[in-house]
Amino acid sequence: MKLRKVTAASALVLALAVTATACGSSDDSGSSSGSGGGKKIKVGIKFDQPGLGLKQPDGSYSGFDVDVATYVAAALGYKADQIEWVETKSADRENALQRGDVKFIAATYSITDERKQKVDFAGPYLLAHQDLLVKKDSAIAKGTDLNGKKLCSVTGSTSAQNVQKTIAPKANLRELAGYSECIAGLQSGAVDAVTTDDSILAGFAAQDKYKGQFKLAGLKLSNENYGIGVKKGDSATVTKINDALKKMVSDGSWQKAVDADFGPAEYKNEPAPQIGNIVK
Ligand code: GLU
Repeated sequence: MKLRKVTAASALVLALAVTATACGSSDDSGSSSGSGGGKKIKVGIKFDQPGLGLKQPDGSYSGFDVDVATYVAAALGYKADQIEWVETKSADRENALQRGDVKFIAATYSITDERKQKVDFAGPYLLAHQDLLVKKDSAIAKGTDLNGKKLCSVTGSTSAQNVQKTIAPKANLRELAGYSECIAGLQSGAVDAVTTDDSILAGFAAQDKYKGQFKLAGLKLSNENYGIGVKKGDSATVTKINDALKKMVSDGSWQKAVDADFGPAEYKNEPAPQIGNIVK
């Protein structure tokens, strides 16, 4: 009996030790150190936006958000091969940060007052503008032309909100999960236009499979200040990321990434924003 008691007690000690090790291997906010010292950081990006965040058929990742995130992760102490990329669709971003699924998000994520209630932002690191993408021969040329037309945007995006509030409240807005689905709808004729940031639309329009089929309206319908989202209250990470972003601009890496990622789409980006300077 006595022996059994001791065994049960040691089992409990062992169980506690295992639990402690498991807890110690993750800070529950997107970074972890696995067995063998292989620490990892989880970073949220888009997987379907060429030039910004794209998962390639070979499993690698490319785009401006990927390059910014890789630079930021390095400043936080993680090499490129220690990054675990996680897809964070527009409507999932606040939840992913609140749950601690990822340490930070670089996913064409505009800094807004509404989102700041739920998450914190470093940056901005890019200023984009909402625009329209239409078929080459389309007569749609301005926001109000969209009223009564079939328009596609993405759930949880500022683009969809702006259409309903100001740009074209009478447009027949279809909200899908990702912009790639909207673009497929534009090509098939299921929708008349796609709206979101010009940076994103330019990337799609330049794809080989769409080349020569679409045109951007060039309207600058809004200011989209891209920030790096982090969990609310994680001010230490915000400070580190802001320092990294400043360095990325001053050492020329920001411009290098812009040239490499936006060059193919001939996207005319705005100059690098000042940290903390939100253009309303
Ligand atoms: N930048 C806008 C936003 O954060 C639109 C692009 C997106 O959905 O990621 O909502």
